[in-house]
Amino acid sequence: GMMPESETIYSFGSVCNVLLKNRGVKDATALAVAKGNGAYQALAKAGTMKPEEILEEVKKANLRGRGGAGFPAGVKWGFIPKDTDKPVYLICNADEGEPGTYKDRQIMEYDPHLLIEGMAIAARAIGARQAFIYIRGEFAWIADILEKAIGEAKADGQLSELDIIVHRGAGAYVCGEETALIESIEGKRGQPRIRPPFPAVEGLYGCPTIVNNVETLASVPFIIEKGAEAFKQWGFENNYGFKLFGISGCVNKPGVYEYPLGVSFNELMEAAGGVKGKLKAAIVGGLSVAILKAEELQDLTMDYDSCAKHGTGLGSGGIMVISEDFSIPELALRTIKFYAHESCGKCVPCREGSYTLVKILHKLLSGQGEAADIEKILGICNTVRGLTLCPTGEAFAVPIQAMVEKFRSEFDALIKK
Ligand code: NAD
Repeated sequence: GMMPESETIYSFGSVCNVLLKNRGVKDATALAVAKGNGAYQALAKAGTMKPEEILEEVKKANLRGRGGAGFPAGVKWGFIPKDTDKPVYLICNADEGEPGTYKDRQIMEYDPHLLIEGMAIAARAIGARQAFIYIRGEFAWIADILEKAIGEAKADGQLSELDIIVHRGAGAYVCGEETALIESIEGKRGQPRIRPPFPAVEGLYGCPTIVNNVETLASVPFIIEKGAEAFKQWGFENNYGFKLFGISGCVNKPGVYEYPLGVSFNELMEAAGGVKGKLKAAIVGGLSVAILKAEELQDLTMDYDSCAKHGTGLGSGGIMVISEDFSIPELALRTIKFYAHESCGKCVPCREGSYTLVKILHKLLSGQGEAADIEKILGICNTVRGLTLCPTGEAFAVPIQAMVEKFRSEFDALIKK
């Protein structure tokens, strides 16, 4: 696959030096170089530990899922039925489709062995011998990097009985949702299943399956090698550890930055070279969370609790910065076009709601809007929330509703006089 040229414009920075430690190191994807930098030492240690001990350490670290939901990884692993006679599967979710989110690709592209090592440790903890990396189709060149790294690790005897298959998706946003992802691996159309049962109990081919995000799995080697207490040197209760933040939009140095959970929004803006123009708003957890106005961002820290307290979510940690030069109704249209395109169509409120919102926002922006249209937008958002199988419905209803409520005057100004 081809690497997009835009890659070169992104900066990176790290104060924790775990997930990005090999970013910028020459040939870091080669096994010999990775091992020279400490790769597979945590796995060697895990090999001397009982699976329950690995699980216990990850639970103690309270490593929360980095894909966006923040569900504790150790707790999830603990949901695998103890007495199962079925095979247990491990799936790494590398579908990274959330707009504004481009963190997992950094790990896979620059430190594939860190992910593979994390998967091997996780597989030992849950008793899996078959693992998958489900990677979005657009990351074709990264899939090649991963396959090469897996081959090298295998040849070096690192993976013992574990087999890892790199499964290329075809570029559908919904296939990042864990049950749609599982359907897709099974060869079916990628549409979500009803949960429960959760995959940990009934997942791939009806067998217990753990689906973890790339960044979550890549965080495991540090926890096993250095211990849960070392992981807790960063962050605070319920919000421990290092985290990747992808910063884009109106900043001088867009890129991926590794900081402790709890870093202030303002410090991250400084790391990203400062805001370009006058700060108006930001969406801090990928596109699918509520937008925050400049004044709401002043005391925001980037962790699960502070984001919740501010009525938004940390999500994937993708921060999109918006300056006064940009129109929120235009952002709303762009947002909803994405979700209308990506709605898988299984649930009526998501399929029809997103389609209708595109039409209404289009009407407003083309100068044909009526006062009732704004109430219609809010009504649709209210109807969609809580009524869809997977989070995609919520993922557009929440941001659109927040954009209209917080920047109402910009929408009112579009109404035909
Ligand atoms: P969720 O909270 O429903 O589930 C999170 C994880 O915990 C899942 O793996 C689920 O199986 C597990 N889980 C939860 N309760 C469980 C239980 N009782 N028993 C067993 N397992 C249980 O969230 P979700 O629907 O998986 O994901 C939503 C999130 O995805 C959003 O917060 C959004 O930020 C994120 N997202 C990320 C991207 C990306 O590209 N990184 C894209 C879209 C959405």
